[in-house]
Order: sequence, then C-alpha cells, then structure tokens
Amino acid sequence: MGYAGGVPREMVVPVIGTLLRMKGTDENESRCVALSGEVGKETRCTIYAQRPSPCREFNPYAALGIGDEACTRARRRHGLPPLEENQATSASSLA
Ligand code: SF4
Repeated sequence: MGYAGGVPREMVVPVIGTLLRMKGTDENESRCVALSGEVGKETRCTIYAQRPSPCREFNPYAALGIGDEACTRARRRHGLPPLEENQATSASSLA
C-alpha cells in the first residue's frame, strides 16, 4: 500500500503539484471516502491517525465537543444543530 503524506494513496485524488484531496470531498454531496457510519448518528474517520493536514487543522476542539463557525456550517449542511450544549459541558470539564 502506498502512502501520500501518511494518507493511503488509494483514498486520494491529485489536484495540482503535490496537492491532493480525499476522494469524495469534491462531489455535490461531499462525503470523504475515509468516513464510516451515518452522519447524525455515529461516524468515525477510518484513517484518523493518518488523516491529512486540513483535517488535523479543522476545529481542533471538535473532539472535546467544542464547535466553531466552520464546524457549525458543516453540521448545518447535514441538518445538525451547533455543538452549543456540548460546548458548555466540555468547557466546564476543561477548567
Ligand atoms: S477526518 Fe477522516 S473522514 Fe473526515 S474528512 Fe478527514 S480523512 Fe475524511
């Protein structure tokens, strides 16, 4: 198995130069090929340890249940509410 910056090569599409994108993320109804499960119920990244840099930089507090504007927009596209309730819970657990 080849790797593109740690990401399994069969899961990426070349864009330009060394720039790659995850398969499925440039579709009308975007869905990364590495995403498993049903959005809104239970999902997981099947290559979490090898995920690309944009995924590592996207909302670093999401794993703690703390959203941001980009997270809220992404959730809205799937009919999901912002993480406001979890935000309060997680913020108090961080103190
Ligand atoms: S975190 Fe994983 S599933 Fe989500 S977009 Fe990145 S590679 Fe795909």
